[in-house]
Amino acid sequence: MNFTITIMGSGAAIPTFTRHCSAQLVNINGVKMLLDCGESTQNYLRQYHVKMQSIRTVFLSHLHGDHFFGLPGLISTMHLCGRTEPLTVYAPKGIRQALEMLFQVSGTELRYELNIVELDFDDCRIIHQERSFRVKAFPLHHSVPTFGYVFEEEQPLLNLRRGVRDRYDLTPDECLKVKNGADYVTPDGKVIPNAELTNLPRLPRRYAYCCDTAYNDDLLSSIAGVDLLCAESTFDNAFQSVAEEKCHLTAALAARLAANAGVGQLLLTHFSARYKELEPLLQEALQIFPNTVAATDGMVLEIPFRTKS
Ligand SMILES: [Zn+2]
Ligand SMILES: [Zn+2]
Repeated sequence: MNFTITIMGSGAAIPTFTRHCSAQLVNINGVKMLLDCGESTQNYLRQYHVKMQSIRTVFLSHLHGDHFFGLPGLISTMHLCGRTEPLTVYAPKGIRQALEMLFQVSGTELRYELNIVELDFDDCRIIHQERSFRVKAFPLHHSVPTFGYVFEEEQPLLNLRRGVRDRYDLTPDECLKVKNGADYVTPDGKVIPNAELTNLPRLPRRYAYCCDTAYNDDLLSSIAGVDLLCAESTFDNAFQSVAEEKCHLTAALAARLAANAGVGQLLLTHFSARYKELEPLLQEALQIFPNTVAATDGMVLEIPFRTKS
């Protein structure tokens, strides 16, 4: 039941020696997905010993080069290495035209199925469903169409309270129904409410990714209460007007977003190449939202279990 995020690129538009362009590996119970795919992503996968053929799904926030230019190369390498399993790519409208043009001029005929799902809507909706989790997408506020994502575990089955099975002589079928939330009706017609029979083992974990975007209160409903929010923080306070002009966040605005959305922890990323040290940006965020960390390339974060308080 692992739920980990590996940072493979924490830089903004221009890569540096220590920060590559945006890319993350999300691993939920062994299902590996890419979240953005900047340059160098395939090298990073090798460096971190992630089998690229094990990735089945890619989610792109938008089609700026620092989030996307690693994808054609990765798709091509998967092809050259004999991939046969399908690959699904979710991205804003335009991705199909971009990829098809590149593969046409390079004479590439993929030997595996590439499923392209173009996102073009203005609400928050489920776009991808796996057995133990789902992925929602919602629009951000950037200079081109951009989507944020929320990775959300399914509600786990309820636990039977101690002694309940024997007290009511429940069959396996009845146990399963109660674990799924049903009340129990005794043979003489008495209704036992589910709350008297079960405990919630833990809350489903949720991870949200907002990169790139300007601040807007309309983001709050999509990310409210997530365990971990990864938000871009391209600039510090001194560049707030530049951030607003270019539809980016400062570290302080990212912290404001985290505080207003009531998230558990904030992860800052997408740092401008002008910052050699991240401490000043981190300090600006910490003053507003104390549970903040700054991403570094290679960082792995495990989203912890939470029990109901
Ligand atoms: Zn960017
Ligand atoms: Zn951008």
